[in-house]
Amino acid sequence: MRDSGVATSLGCLRGRYAAGMSVRVGDLLATGSQSFSFEFFPPKTDAGEAQLWKALGELEPLAPTFVSVTYGAGGTTRDRTVGITGRIAKETQMVPVGHLTCVGATVSELESVIDEYAAAGVHNVLALRGDPPGGPGDQWVAHEGGLNYAAELVALATRSGDFSVGVAAFPDPHPASMSAQVDVEVLRAKQEAGAEFAITQFFFKSSAYFQLVDRARAGGVTIPIIPGIMPVTNLAQITRFASLSGADFPADVAAEFERVGDDYVRDLGIEMASRLCRELLEGGAPGLHFYTLNRSTATRDIYANLGLGATAQ
Ligand SMILES: Cc1cc2nc3c(=O)[nH]c(=O)nc-3n(C[C@H](O)[C@H](O)[C@H](O)COP(=O)(O)OP(=O)(O)OC[C@H]3O[C@@H](n4cnc5c(N)ncnc54)[C@H](O)[C@@H]3O)c2cc1C
Repeated sequence: MRDSGVATSLGCLRGRYAAGMSVRVGDLLATGSQSFSFEFFPPKTDAGEAQLWKALGELEPLAPTFVSVTYGAGGTTRDRTVGITGRIAKETQMVPVGHLTCVGATVSELESVIDEYAAAGVHNVLALRGDPPGGPGDQWVAHEGGLNYAAELVALATRSGDFSVGVAAFPDPHPASMSAQVDVEVLRAKQEAGAEFAITQFFFKSSAYFQLVDRARAGGVTIPIIPGIMPVTNLAQITRFASLSGADFPADVAAEFERVGDDYVRDLGIEMASRLCRELLEGGAPGLHFYTLNRSTATRDIYANLGLGATAQ
């Protein structure tokens, strides 16, 4: 899957990281090696915290390229997100990416969070606008003294220090976007502001991802666009997530799940996600980003189906 020249370069960066030096996700992706990454969220309870560290421990042997931790709606998880990513940096061999949103914060508060990330040893951030405090369906109003769009946050993070900055991309157009073409212009603006990689919202058909990449390349976007994978393990949950995020849950996919019945939803979800991952990698995707929901089993099952071992060299 990877040639030895590329592997040496990736191995070199991993060696630098193991020796305590910071590593930029943009540099890891530039090696040309396929990237495998996992996303987690900051839990609210002690039991949730224990589950998060259990999942991280079970997934570390897969040697992900990076792991990311979300920033709660409304900016509510600031301390927990910085704390968890800092602990990942100190206590594991995994490269953490901290998410950051513009919601409910002034520019100087955002600068403070960026400084806190740097002080915690976190040198990669995913810069997002975030959803309006009332939910994704509400009208976006920038916080007083804050930022309007993710591109401005990319510029702020890039200016503030040695961060590798990633951004969101949308195979199904962003719910508030006027068109897929506007999404491409927005993605290019984020690249021009300094973004080095993009991760997509989840989607269910590889064609949606490849069409996004085609539109983006035609529109001058050159950064790697990593597809986001959300395996279906619970039908009610995925339907809620899709309607919240604006991702399309296609009728024929929903019908397949309804046909197999509740007891087999998980099996079919893993089979479908494995098929999607295979198509994406065979079609040239630069890697895969798994939305884990702080659980390890679905990701590990898909890894096994794809014949992927640990990615470390
Ligand atoms: C991989 C991934 C991770 C995520 N992680 C989180 C997280 O941790 N926490 C969280 O709260 N949310 C998260 N989200 C959700 C994200 O915050 C929302 O989807 C949000 O509504 C859009 O964020 P964005 O960064 O794409 O914003 P932007 O790129 O700013 O786009 C937002 C909207 O504004 C429009 N727009 C952008 N620039 C302009 C402009 N110059 N002029 C006019 N219109 C413009 C766009 O078309 C779009 O409709 C994540 C999404 C993804 C895909």
